[in-house]
Amino acid sequence: MRIHSDFTGGNICVKQINNDTVYLENQLRDTTEDWFYWAFCVEGAGNKQLTFHFQPNRLGYFGPAVSYDLKNWHWLDKVNDDCFTYTFSADESKVYFAHSMLYHPDRFYDFAKEHSICITELCKSKKGRSVPCVKLGNGDKSIILTARHHACESTGSYVLEGVLSELLKSELMTDYTVFCVPFVDFDGVIDGDQGKSRRPYDHNRDYNPEMASIYPETAAIREYADENGCVFGFDFHSPWHRGRENDTVFIVQNCFEKLDSLNRFGETLENSITDDSLKYEHKNDYPFGTGWNKGGNQFAAYMTKKPENDVAFTLETAYFGSENNKVNEQRLLSLGKCFANALKEYIS
Ligand SMILES: [Zn+2]
Repeated sequence: MRIHSDFTGGNICVKQINNDTVYLENQLRDTTEDWFYWAFCVEGAGNKQLTFHFQPNRLGYFGPAVSYDLKNWHWLDKVNDDCFTYTFSADESKVYFAHSMLYHPDRFYDFAKEHSICITELCKSKKGRSVPCVKLGNGDKSIILTARHHACESTGSYVLEGVLSELLKSELMTDYTVFCVPFVDFDGVIDGDQGKSRRPYDHNRDYNPEMASIYPETAAIREYADENGCVFGFDFHSPWHRGRENDTVFIVQNCFEKLDSLNRFGETLENSITDDSLKYEHKNDYPFGTGWNKGGNQFAAYMTKKPENDVAFTLETAYFGSENNKVNEQRLLSLGKCFANALKEYIS
């Protein structure tokens, strides 16, 4: 039997194996606060029943997300505090488990190919990888869409794919150009980093207008926005692990000056939500100046201050949801489609 993290997004440390009980910890790497992301693969455990133990705050309401191919995910739907038990059938030679439903970059490449979207290089990452970006439409006005400023926040990627799939078909694309960076912290996504609260600061705190960016990706996004403008900027994230607002979908209202626009977008989004989507309610939006929402050098703050900007914000989408509003791939994609429809409605 082999338990490992040798795959895109992998993150695990095996502390101890006692008979059929495996003690695991996730790797924080350069994250400066406690965080919860992990993903591992078990090979050669056919016919075994194993119990996996974690530190507190590592497992969601529905247990681990389970996959055989890193593309299709389902919840185990069984969990016992900080551990879960899995019974491997004889033919389950390779099973992936993760904190939440991962979004493999190959999925985005497949999506782009299917829709004849050309992927170009935003820049080289710090580790020399080619960071992908895409452009849709050829209008004068600019919409900038991003996800994975925090590497582990995969629900944002599904929502972003849904947004793009709807915008592709939209008449908006004659007036607007969409510039999209699907994996801002590309190295972190590939390497399975938390990506949140990196030392000295993470990608979504690298938009201080008074300073040059320290990450090549954020520098390239700023350069694009400075040259082409940003009428709308949307950054798709996942919130903290779970509990309270973290079980919902919410807009982070990032300033008082644009409160009317932020509220109008929220109302429009709520009215655009369809039955097959993860639910969103405007009342869950996070008010500026409260709790952890006190401003900072985020993507959305940077774009909001541009003179041509109408509205820019972060959309947070829960990792798990709740029993009657449960996250799955299809609901996340539908939420993205509803978001694109809300944007159309907001503009009109
Ligand atoms: Zn985030």
